[in-house]
Amino acid sequence: MKLANDFSLTRRGFLAASLIVSDILFNRRAGGLDALAATVGTEPTPACADTDDITPPQTAGPFFKPRSPDRKSLLEPGIQGTRIVLEGNIRSTKCRPVQGALLDFWQADGSGVYDNAGYRLRGHQFADAAGRYRLETIVPGVYPGRTRHFHVRVQVPNRPALTTQLYFPGEPENKKDFIFNAKLVVAVGGAAGARTANFDFVLDLG
Ligand code: FE
Repeated sequence: MKLANDFSLTRRGFLAASLIVSDILFNRRAGGLDALAATVGTEPTPACADTDDITPPQTAGPFFKPRSPDRKSLLEPGIQGTRIVLEGNIRSTKCRPVQGALLDFWQADGSGVYDNAGYRLRGHQFADAAGRYRLETIVPGVYPGRTRHFHVRVQVPNRPALTTQLYFPGEPENKKDFIFNAKLVVAVGGAAGARTANFDFVLDLG
C-alpha cells in the first residue's frame, strides 16, 4: 500500500505540474513574461486531488452513539484482539492540512460485537495542527453480513460531517459486502505486534 500512496502522490504531482505548465503556456500567449512571472510567483497551493480522491461517505449503521469519550486509545483492560494503530492525515482537496477536525471512531470488538450499553471501543479525538490523527485500538472482528471495518465520523466546524467506514485489504468478505468501497481501504503495515493502518481523509472544503 506504500506503493499505492507513492503512486497517488506522484500522480497528483504530475497533475499539479500539468496545471502549472498549462498556465505558463497560456500566459505566454496572453501576456508575455510579466504575466508569466506573476503566474509563477503567485501560484497557490497546487490542486493535488481531484474529485475522485475525496473520501466517500458511507452509512453510519445502527451502532453510532453520541458523546463518546475523548481519548486516543481505545485499549482497556479486558479487550481482546490484535492491537493496531490507525493513523493518517486529514487534508483538503487543495492539499492543506485540516487542523482541529473532530474524529469520532466506533467499532466492533475482536468477536464482532459492539458495546451499545457503554463506550467500549468508542472514542473521539481532534486532529493536530498538522491535520494528523492517531488511534490505538484493536482490529475489529467481523459480524454477519459485514466485512471487517471501522466506523468514523469526521467533523470540521461549520461543515457537514463526513460519516464513513474504513476497510482492510485482502479480506475475503470484502467481495461479498455490498457496502464495501475499495477507496476506503487502509494501508496496513508494521511488524506483528505493532501493526499500523494508515488512511488519509480528503475533504472537499471548497
Ligand atoms: Fe459496523
